[in-house]
Amino acid sequence: MSTDKVELDALAVFSHPDDAELTVAGTLLKLKHLGYRTGVLDVTRGEMGTRGTPEGRAEEALEAAHVLKLDARLNLELPDGHVWVTEDARRAMVRVIRTHRPHVILTSHWDDPHPDHAATARIVREAARLASMRRYDEEGGQDAVKMPALAHAVYSRLVAPSFIVDVSDFVEDKMRAIRAHASQFCRADSDEPQTRISDEKFLDQIEYRMRYYGSLIGVVAGEPFYVREALNIDDPVALLTRPMNIYS
Ligand SMILES: [Zn+2]
Repeated sequence: MSTDKVELDALAVFSHPDDAELTVAGTLLKLKHLGYRTGVLDVTRGEMGTRGTPEGRAEEALEAAHVLKLDARLNLELPDGHVWVTEDARRAMVRVIRTHRPHVILTSHWDDPHPDHAATARIVREAARLASMRRYDEEGGQDAVKMPALAHAVYSRLVAPSFIVDVSDFVEDKMRAIRAHASQFCRADSDEPQTRISDEKFLDQIEYRMRYYGSLIGVVAGEPFYVREALNIDDPVALLTRPMNIYS
């Protein structure tokens, strides 16, 4: 997989090598289908995981990237379990943003209960702003970029989604991309310790969740996002006459 200078329309930034698949794979598949260039940046190599090895997980990430038809799969190699908002982390994130120049970044929510996920959201927010400042990291020798738009994946019921993407046509491929991370999920031949996500019910729950969010907009499956900024709507009639569910 080419990871060098390719420019991207949308970049998903998540902490661990299977997070993007579990969270926004349907949206990435849909964006690809619409003709956009998509990429995933894993912030760590997932070396703190109970199951699997960093090398094995890197191979699984590439396999999943193939299923998702990504234009780039990148890794920031920050220490798993110790992701913080540091100057090094911000600078590394700014350099990725300036290299790949995404217009939109999909990432976790800053209120996510996993500390790495919450810190990743904060690093992304700060780096997105810093990447647009010409004088920040001048020694990196890269041009500043227009600040990318940020959309946060929603996991908590306390966060009301700003919008839900209809991913009805991409459920199967999303589940296939998740299962590419074979070391992490239910496998009869594995003698590694069970974890919350290796329980077979976990993947069912991921699917039920997609179906629930789909039901909120009257479709088969959906992925929810939160945007902190007010959305600029050009045509409210076109927007508000799309299928909705008044019981959402
Ligand atoms: Zn994670």
